[in-house]
Amino acid sequence: MERTLVLLKPDSVSKKHIGDIIKIYEENDCTVAAMKLMKMDERLASIHYQEHIGRPYYEELVSFMTSGPIVALVLEGDDVIRRVRALNGKTNPAEADEGTIRRLYAESKSINAVHASDSPESAEREVHIFFNETEILD
Ligand code: ADP
Ligand code: MG
Repeated sequence: MERTLVLLKPDSVSKKHIGDIIKIYEENDCTVAAMKLMKMDERLASIHYQEHIGRPYYEELVSFMTSGPIVALVLEGDDVIRRVRALNGKTNPAEADEGTIRRLYAESKSINAVHASDSPESAEREVHIFFNETEILD
């Protein structure tokens, strides 16, 4: 069993797509193991997106991610890291496959509905940015 960290970004929360998006994960054999509605601040954004610091889109990314509430989730399942990335679709919704979450709900390459960890190493790191081990239920 594997775990991944998912964020429903501020656009998903403000457009009331929390339920729609979680339904897609649940229908695809992902189990919600932890969940919180919260607000990211600049410090948390800089930890979560540390590899993006200095990139041309970084300031825009932080200002978007801190613009309103987000939902942080730990999803659990077999091969869940790879499968959730596939369900989310490509970063740019214009390039995302039909039926993917980003094709359905994202607006643009920056305002793109969801985040998911991209490797076992990033999943381990990112899950523990948002959750204590005692908050993750099996
Ligand atoms: P992903 O979220 O698909 O893993 P990246 O790790 O490349 O994508 O980028 C992290 C986030 O930064 C993206 O989801 C998006 O919100 C933002 N981002 C990345 N590249 C760009 C870009 N060229 N222009 C604007 N925003 C971007
Ligand atoms: Mg990424």
